[in-house]
Amino acid sequence: MHQAKKRFGQNFLTDKNLLMKIVDQSKIKDKNVLEIGPGLGALTQYLVPQAKKYLAFEIDYSLKDSLKKFENTHTKFIFEDFLSVDVETVLNEYFINEEVHLVGNLPYYITSPIIFKFLDIKNLKTATMMVQKEVGLRMMADANNKVYNGFSVILQYFTDVKLLMNVNKKMFKPVPKVDSVVMQLTKKDTPLDKTDQALFIKLVKLAFAHKRKTLLNNLATGLNLEKNNILDVLKELDFNENTRAELLSVNDFVRLTTHIKKIIN
Ligand code: SAH
Repeated sequence: MHQAKKRFGQNFLTDKNLLMKIVDQSKIKDKNVLEIGPGLGALTQYLVPQAKKYLAFEIDYSLKDSLKKFENTHTKFIFEDFLSVDVETVLNEYFINEEVHLVGNLPYYITSPIIFKFLDIKNLKTATMMVQKEVGLRMMADANNKVYNGFSVILQYFTDVKLLMNVNKKMFKPVPKVDSVVMQLTKKDTPLDKTDQALFIKLVKLAFAHKRKTLLNNLATGLNLEKNNILDVLKELDFNENTRAELLSVNDFVRLTTHIKKIIN
């Protein structure tokens, strides 16, 4: 029997109904699938028969034997750290530049780096992931919600965020400390070009940098601009001069970006 390893964040799923529900709702039938952290193959057993082609990254080499039974002509298992591999190149080679869908029940301490890697890789179209419940709530929070932050804005700019299901911590072995949710991220068309997008991300980060400061103060400090210049922009956009980052919607940040761009160039 495989002993769960804490250092690899191993909390295994066993409930058949839950596993089938996750795979069913990930909607990967006849699609290319990338699984991160297959573990003992809980999700793998349902993903492999449905997938067009299947590729997995698993950091723990000692799971190789447990995963052997899933090896066939349209599957591939790579025993490496997903975060330290040039995944884009591997994907494009294995899936011959086709679209790929990510699925994973993964350790929670790597949720954000995985999401940013997912956003970066063009051919990855959806991500169905187990995340800590608090993180899931943040991912889908709207403006003015107390957990809404820069991460919510950036994620919702790039993807449609959907809550697929709640998962009680008792469903895992060993039982973790927190409850979980399965989220699905679907990439969408983005309104800004690459340069403006970089500015958008910068502005979102600056706007939320100091929680108790107004948007005006955060931007003036962060961009090293005169307050009056920023005030003009806020007026043009019909934003109150005392407004705070958490009151701006994703679209407000897009509008802010196009206006700020004019005064910094
Ligand atoms: N998906 C399985 C296992 C969950 S435990 C299930 O649902 O039962 C999380 C898995 O992710 C473990 O197998 C762990 O070894 C693997 N893992 C942790 N960090 C990883 C990384 N950086 N890259 C790839 N796999 C990783």
